[in-house]
Amino acid sequence: MLCLKDAVTHVLNHGYSHHIQRLMVLSNFSNLTNTDPRQLNHWFWLAYIDAYEWVELPNVIGMSTFADGGILASKPYISGGSYINKMSNCCSQCKYDVKQKTGSCACPFNYLYWNFVDQHRDSFAENGRVSLMTNVYEKKSED
Ligand code: SF4
Repeated sequence: MLCLKDAVTHVLNHGYSHHIQRLMVLSNFSNLTNTDPRQLNHWFWLAYIDAYEWVELPNVIGMSTFADGGILASKPYISGGSYINKMSNCCSQCKYDVKQKTGSCACPFNYLYWNFVDQHRDSFAENGRVSLMTNVYEKKSED
């Protein structure tokens, strides 16, 4: 997963990464794998050179993970691989195929994303900003 490797390596080497890597790669991966938001928050706080708690805490607990139940953001920021492909140049060099949704070469973000939608479809159905995703999911074949 080159996008993830790039983002983590950059943080380890520089204590910094840009907004899309923070929100749509690292936090997205953390959300989609059901990581405890408090642990992600702690990791950001330790790893980032610009992590002042007054701004880092609400960004991670509110915007990045939706762990405040929607006080700060109106929807969880999650995505499959296509958004990462649009916002980075990693996918063309990754061993996974961002366009594949199934199979051993399919981008793991695609699997993780639809798994997450399935897990949370009841609450997603009640949120107008993400309810479309549950409708798309319901139309998918069993395969
Ligand atoms: S194909 Fe998937 S895992 Fe690979 S860089 Fe793109 S989004 Fe990341």
